[in-house]
Amino acid sequence: MMPMPTRLTTSVLVRRQGRMMMFDAGEGIQLALKKGGLGIRALDAIAITHLHADHILGVPGILMFRAQNEDPGPLTIIGPPGVARFVNNTLEDLRYRINYDIDFVEWAPDRPSHAWSWNGVAVDWEPLEHSTFCLGYRLCEPARPGRFNEERARALGLNPGPAYSLLQSGTAVEAPGGRTVFPEDVMGPSRRGRIVAFCTDTRPCAGVEKLCKGADLAFVEGMFSLKHEKEAAEKKHMTAVQAATLARAASVDELRLVHISPRYSKDDERLLEDEARTIFPKAKVAKALQAYPVALPD
Ligand SMILES: [Zn+2]
Ligand SMILES: [Zn+2]
Repeated sequence: MMPMPTRLTTSVLVRRQGRMMMFDAGEGIQLALKKGGLGIRALDAIAITHLHADHILGVPGILMFRAQNEDPGPLTIIGPPGVARFVNNTLEDLRYRINYDIDFVEWAPDRPSHAWSWNGVAVDWEPLEHSTFCLGYRLCEPARPGRFNEERARALGLNPGPAYSLLQSGTAVEAPGGRTVFPEDVMGPSRRGRIVAFCTDTRPCAGVEKLCKGADLAFVEGMFSLKHEKEAAEKKHMTAVQAATLARAASVDELRLVHISPRYSKDDERLLEDEARTIFPKAKVAKALQAYPVALPD
């Protein structure tokens, strides 16, 4: 919740097919992009959870860093009501000229849980329970076609070539002898895409569980140790154990605890992990500048 010499504020950058999307941008977060050698040209969107300084103060720096590139293309900023006002006022007050368009996607009570589409990846949001209005996010890749059963195709009289491609793209073909072969005759069931969730600054709530449901990787706030459970409730945050309990209920595969209170040393972080692991064995405290590859589910 504050930039430290060894740890910046909580932010997650998702990189997919060479493009990038950032979740939250605290003070100085562009340093992480530079340290990680990630550049900024490929940044398509920033999703902001809420208007607390440790989650949004880094946005102006990111916008200016991005403007150093020639024609970097449009940027989408997703977030709670007021996010556009904050960004526009800041840019105006600083007299800063941005050489690209910014599209805003602001939450509103009548908006569905689907916020935006990032190159085909669904970006969903849900309100969480914090001391100010706060959103959690979920990225969900589109389903992929099922596996092509070549043995079955050959048994139906087809040979490798255009017929295979047509079937794989969902078109029926005619086999020698005049029989029609439909895609479902040779394709297995479609396969789900990867799911990543980002939920921070919240009490345990249904929104976190919904966003984390079946996630391959979930970044969830585990700000406090069990001994500070009362403080967690007062400040509208969660303990590592509460994050682990939600992850288990949501059948998450990997859990990374984020937004760790700055009062905890590196050794204390082990304690948070140990507490979380009593509930969810695959829990870890997320590390600064660490990459977490997400494998395809199958
Ligand atoms: Zn925070
Ligand atoms: Zn907050």
